[in-house]
Amino acid sequence: MYQGHVIPAVDTALLLATHGALASVVATPYNAARIRPTIDIARQSGLPIRLVELPLDCAAVGLPDGADDVDKIPAELHANYFSALELLAAPLERHLRAHPPYPTCIVSDFCHAWTVGVAANLHVPRLSFFSMCAFCLLCQHNLERFNTYDSVTDDNEPVVVPGVERRIEVTRAQAPGFFRSPGFDHLADGVERAHAQADGVVMNSFLEMEPEYVAVYVAARKMKVWTIGPVSLYHRNAATLAARGNTTTAVAADECVRWLDGKEARSVVYVSFGSIVHADPKQLVELGLGLEASGHPFVWVLKNPGYYGDEVNEFLGGLEERVAWRGMLIRGWAPQVLILNHAAVGGFVTHCGWNSTLEAIAAGLPLVTWPHFSDQFWNEKLAVEVLGIGVSIGVKEPVVWQAVEKEIVVGREVVEEAVRSIMDGGGEGEERRRKALALSEKARAAVQEGGSSLSNLLDLIKRFEVDAGVRTTE
Ligand code: UDP
Repeated sequence: MYQGHVIPAVDTALLLATHGALASVVATPYNAARIRPTIDIARQSGLPIRLVELPLDCAAVGLPDGADDVDKIPAELHANYFSALELLAAPLERHLRAHPPYPTCIVSDFCHAWTVGVAANLHVPRLSFFSMCAFCLLCQHNLERFNTYDSVTDDNEPVVVPGVERRIEVTRAQAPGFFRSPGFDHLADGVERAHAQADGVVMNSFLEMEPEYVAVYVAARKMKVWTIGPVSLYHRNAATLAARGNTTTAVAADECVRWLDGKEARSVVYVSFGSIVHADPKQLVELGLGLEASGHPFVWVLKNPGYYGDEVNEFLGGLEERVAWRGMLIRGWAPQVLILNHAAVGGFVTHCGWNSTLEAIAAGLPLVTWPHFSDQFWNEKLAVEVLGIGVSIGVKEPVVWQAVEKEIVVGREVVEEAVRSIMDGGGEGEERRRKALALSEKARAAVQEGGSSLSNLLDLIKRFEVDAGVRTTE
């Protein structure tokens, strides 16, 4: 559904297939169209991977026809969208029964609580997939386990996360819990129940980055956890990277690479807020002016250009003229991982979606952290307080998904200073970069032969091989 879930799930399927498991990726038509080029490339190279397209019954839940592009669903209909997903249980079960070989395991995003029933009917295990880090999952779990928010009357009052060695403070507004928002509570309870019943967790993280948090999470959940990330490192060539996540990028991958080729090593800052966040128009202007004032070359990804009014578009046009030699604006989808791994890129201003954060870690980049909602405040804390690779933009309150509840505009001077602090070097800057590069080496080692993530992946495959005796009766 959301690209931040679909993309790492597809990467995971590709990794499973690369190491010999037949993987069937299940997606609704809109998402299937986005990932088909990636699956086709993999199939052509001989990987045992299939794409299973299951249509959503939108009419049954009061959604407009063909509403499986979550970006086009108004916020008030998102709960209906999740109801439509639940209706996929019967078609999925039918599909899996009718298309041999019989599955040995279902790996489904943690949001899809309804897959528990499918796995039970098929008598196969179900693993919960998280493109999140153990730090985030453990902290959130502990807050709930110890009822930490019970004593809090103000959502912006900080609490200390219990059960973790380091002192981590958070507010309920920043980390209310997954789906803990009005209209979604039933979903939140279902997701938690499904997680408690899971036969294990597949996590897009790697052990060497957060060993203590993985260990404590495993103990707290009493559950097998396979850390197999960073899954984006599956992609080793420009063609698969350019196809990742979309059928068409707003800018051709080779054009992007040519532009970056003309820039000095580590001189360019990449700016993107992921696939969901819609920036407030005033914020866009401040961000643009801050980037301009920083003096650094930049690649700035602007999602949904049609969404902004004439005034913003005029501003963006003017900015482009002024920074023509050093600023590239991508209006739409960017080949993000390709860009992050170009030698010219030296830093990332990110909303701290977990995929973006981990992709930056894999690329060895320091971050300006600018969380908006969901797990993003946790990811900021991991990057800034635990790993020491990020500088916070200073936002303390969430900007709620697709709707600005309260105007929080970060000024241009703050943007300029934050960009300078990750790009200009100096003692602290050098230290952050050194840490980021060291982490990148660890991330890459984790997915190589003998590395923790690859070993976990192979263990996962072995455990659920057809002849491993996992499947019980039909
Ligand atoms: N992404 C991309 N191009 C874009 C925007 C996003 O390739 O223009 C990818 C990005 O590399 C990441 C995912 O989309 O893999 C976004 O996931 P993330 O968890 O960072 O944020 P979300 O979109 O879920 O908020």
